[in-house]
Parts: sequence; structure tokens; C-alpha cells
Amino acid sequence: MTKATVVSGIRPTGNLHLGNYFGAVRSFLKMQNDYNCYFFIADIHSLTTHPTPENLQNGVKQVLAEYLACGLDPEKSTIFIQSDVPEITELYTFLNMNAYLGELERTTSFKEKARKQPENVNAGLLTYPVLMASDIIIHKAQFVPVGKDQEQNLEMARKFAGRFNRMYNREVFPIPQPFTFDGGDMIKIPGLDGSGKMGKSEGNAIALFEDPKSIRKKVMRAVTDAGPTEPNSPKPEPIQNLFSLMKIMSDPEVVKQFDAAYNDCSIRYGDLKKQLAEDIVAFTTPIRERITEILEDDAYLAKVARMGAEKARESASATLKEVKELIGFRRLF
Ligand code: ATP
Ligand code: MG
Repeated sequence: MTKATVVSGIRPTGNLHLGNYFGAVRSFLKMQNDYNCYFFIADIHSLTTHPTPENLQNGVKQVLAEYLACGLDPEKSTIFIQSDVPEITELYTFLNMNAYLGELERTTSFKEKARKQPENVNAGLLTYPVLMASDIIIHKAQFVPVGKDQEQNLEMARKFAGRFNRMYNREVFPIPQPFTFDGGDMIKIPGLDGSGKMGKSEGNAIALFEDPKSIRKKVMRAVTDAGPTEPNSPKPEPIQNLFSLMKIMSDPEVVKQFDAAYNDCSIRYGDLKKQLAEDIVAFTTPIRERITEILEDDAYLAKVARMGAEKARESASATLKEVKELIGFRRLF
């Protein structure tokens, strides 16, 4: 039986953090045995925020090392760098002809970025979902493991895939489905600053590569309040966020104890934070050590990237050939 295809990527805009891990990478690890997987480093996507050439190159190397340190296996999955596969940008150009200004402007992630960087509302930001659609459908992916923040962008990819199929009256592209680790809701790991998501560009992330001292400092500084005064009070967002993180990082028994303490108003946030910090340190330490080791091995990183580029181009060029035929680019010579 042929395996279903999976595609997902991460922007090389900083060190991978707990949000990237639990929203995306954890699913990659689970999928790589049973699916035909393409996991990439989205270096073209990262250009929307204008990195320097040095930042871009270091970022790519870092994410590649982090993928491998987390357990992605280049023998099982195709691990590649987006810009090594020019077919992706060619398909993006074609898809742009059927992507409309209105729908792109209405995308939440575009509106948010435009608000955050009003001095740099470039066309790449606007057409981000089109490039993301190209990333996915160029390998004819059926599943896309991504976090909750990508839900709407994935919805756009589904729309563009279906639109192309209808336009040329052929089921060229499967309509990609979201994939979550446990089949439940898409994951959103909150930041420690009280609201919103943890993000590389938000300045509120705990990185897998972070040293224990810095992790402890960040967790101890997380936003809290004066504590509950009535038994069984609802949790305000910053407190709920700490509990959400704890649910992912800590033993269920421990979470239960703190939950009970919250409900009978005996909770001490300092204790909760200490516990959470230690659980995060225990989880990240072996990964951090592997990242350091792998970063020293340039030859290995280069080999993985070369192998991935070859496999990804093979799949991408087959799709592109079919697409160009359909569009009507037929050779006269
Ligand atoms: P940036 O701030 O540069 O956009 P990011 O931290 O949002 O970086 P991306 O590269 O945009 O990371 O996303 C990579 C993957 O990680 C995506 O699948 C995304 O859904 C997931 N992800 C990112 N942040 C979170 C989060 N806080 N919770 C769950 N998943 C997340
Ligand atoms: Mg993002």
C-alpha cells in the first residue's frame, strides 16, 4: 500500500521553542514511520521579515540541527531547505494568478503582521498563504501537521488546491487535511507574557536550545496575579496559560495537585513555577545537548541537506511537469 504524504515546515527565524515542538515537531516524529514525509526549513518564508544574509544562513543551520536533534531521521523523512527546491516558487507564481486580493487581505495572519510591522507590509506577507499552499501541494500532501496558529493558512491552501483542480477539471491535488498529534484539536502553546501564542518573533518563547538558568528565570518571571480569593474561581488567561503549559510538560498527578490548590485558594504560584521550570529543563536538556553536538558537524548537516534537496526536487518536479502541461505550457520544439 502506498503511504499517505505529509508536508510541514518551520521558518528559520530563531531557535525552535516549545510551541514549535508541541504544535508541530512532535507530530513529525510520530508520522515519520508511517507516512511519506517532507519536512522543510521555510527560508523563503522568513524573507518577509528581512533577515540579514548571516542571520538567514545561521537560522537555516540551526533549525536543521534542531530537527535532527529532536529525532527527525533523514533516512525516513525527506528533510530539506525550501530554497533548494525552485519548483516551489514556480508553482507559487502559477497559484498567485488564482489568488485574490480580497481573500488574502482578510487573512488574520496578514492583518496581524501588517499591524505589527506597518513599515514593511510587503507583497510576500500578503501572498504568504499562496507560497504555503505551494509548499504543501507540490508534493500532493494529504496531511499537514501544524499548530493552531496555521489553521487559517491551511484552510487557504485547501481552497487554492480545490480551485486549481476545478479550473483545470482534474483532481491534480488532494485537499490537504490538518493532522494533530492525538487526533484532537490543533495545539496552541501560549507565551509566558500573559496572552497570545509563544512565537519565535514574539520574544516570549522558551527555546529547546535554552540553557537551564535562562529557562528558570523566564518561568519565574511569567505573568501571574494576586491569586484566587474565592474557591473554584475561573482562571484568568495568564494563569490558565501556565496551567496549559504544565499540562503538556508535567506529570498529570502534579497538575492535579496544583489544580486542587488553585481551587481551594492555597496555591503558591512560586511553587508552581518552580515545578514547571524543572520539568521544562528535564525535557529540553537532552535535546539541547544533541543540538550542540550536531551543530559541530558541518559535513553531516550538508549531507542531510543535499539528500533532502534531491528527494524533494524529484517529487516537486514531477508535480510541476503535470501542472505546466495542464495550464497549457506545451512545448513547440
Ligand atoms: P515566527 O514568529 O517567525 O512566525 P513561529 O514561532 O510562529 O515563528 P513558525 O515557523 O511560524 O514558528 O511555525 C512553525 C510551526 O510551529 C507551525 O506548524 C506552527 O503552527 C507551529 N507553532 C508555532 N508557534 C506555536 C505555538 N505557540 N503553539 C503551537 N504551535 C506553534
Ligand atoms: Mg509563525
